Amino acid sequence: ADAIDVGAIREEFPILQREFDGQQVVYLDNAATTQTPDPVVDAMSDYYRESNANVHRGIHHLSQEASEAYEAAHDRVAEFINADGREEVIFTKNTTEGENLLAYSWGLAELSPEDTVVLTEMEHHASLVTWQQIAKRTGASVEYIRVDETGRLDMDHAAELIDDDTAIVSAVHVSNTLGTVNPVSELTDLAHEHDALSFIDGAQAVPNRPVDVKEIDADFYAFSGHKMAGPTGIGVLYGKRDLLEDLNPYLYGGGMIRKVTFEDSTWGELPWKFEPGTPPIAEAVGLHAAVDWLEDIGMDRIETHEEELAAYAYDRLEAEEDVEIYGPEGGPDRGGLVSFNLEGVHAHDLTSIMNDHTIAVRAGDHCTQPLHDKLGVPASTRASFYVYNTREEIDKLVAALDDARQLFA
Ligand code: PMP
Repeated sequence: ADAIDVGAIREEFPILQREFDGQQVVYLDNAATTQTPDPVVDAMSDYYRESNANVHRGIHHLSQEASEAYEAAHDRVAEFINADGREEVIFTKNTTEGENLLAYSWGLAELSPEDTVVLTEMEHHASLVTWQQIAKRTGASVEYIRVDETGRLDMDHAAELIDDDTAIVSAVHVSNTLGTVNPVSELTDLAHEHDALSFIDGAQAVPNRPVDVKEIDADFYAFSGHKMAGPTGIGVLYGKRDLLEDLNPYLYGGGMIRKVTFEDSTWGELPWKFEPGTPPIAEAVGLHAAVDWLEDIGMDRIETHEEELAAYAYDRLEAEEDVEIYGPEGGPDRGGLVSFNLEGVHAHDLTSIMNDHTIAVRAGDHCTQPLHDKLGVPASTRASFYVYNTREEIDKLVAALDDARQLFA
């Protein structure tokens, strides 16, 4: 595929033209949240101006229009990730809620002291803390697949840990700290060989590369709208239909029931049985527009663009003797982000100096504290890229390191 037209794409993001102290924003915090292009903002604005009403098939015109738009968004997302239709696409608030939905509805009901939950050492807290706490309540144990010195999963260790006691394997598709692209189909196969389920955290994958849930064969897969050019307040939990049919909801209320009496209730159809209350309707419209927008550019091309930026950033930072980078070298094993430390400078100070240059990067443990403990550092600085970023922006990042050296080293 030919390269993407970054110049034209940037014009759809007025926020990228913003200046602070006369310097244009260099936005390299895309793993935290991406910027939202005009067509997505317009779709939500049009919805509020023209079609706003509550959903669930009200009788009046506006409610019908809103319901159709809300349902169509499920269909569009299903198509985007190759799910078998809207029944397999539950709208949540974000990836975190998808994780909790599964842990509370399936985990609390099914896990027992004989079971193990297998995670990786590079899980985001969204998955790590959730399974840890559900395991405490059910008596199940949690085991972690080792991360090796290169920042990749030790797959021999995975094959050792995943056995007939394993109830679920929960793994991050692309690490938001190391950038590692994990072999999630292999992990899913290992889980299935032992009649365990697989959950994949796709928060850093779906925005940045083609994802086909059938090809991975994941039983459950979660991601967030706000990291893929969409709005905040909406995320997706994909689940295989037969598994979702058998699962009880963990949030109850209106819009998700079939029949209610004073004594008991039964649940409605998928996916609505997992979406009680008034859902994120405008956000669903925005997510739909974001998927259209991404596919117009092409997920293959977005993946290539980010892989190139990450490899460039890796090489430029690698050339600096006092910079330590975490995770695999640039290439197909690394998604579009690079976390690093500058010797003698705390990540928070470095990030603050970057901000003096209006370069937006993130400092901290990136919700992977145990992984940072293992790396032996309290924090790192993370630069993360999206479809609108350029090599020149990475050059600015590298140039700003000198300021930090002068001030702190
Ligand atoms: N998992 C991963 C890998 C992430 O990068 C993030 C966002 N930092 C999350 C989960 C949580 O996403 P959200 O905050 O949208 O729930």
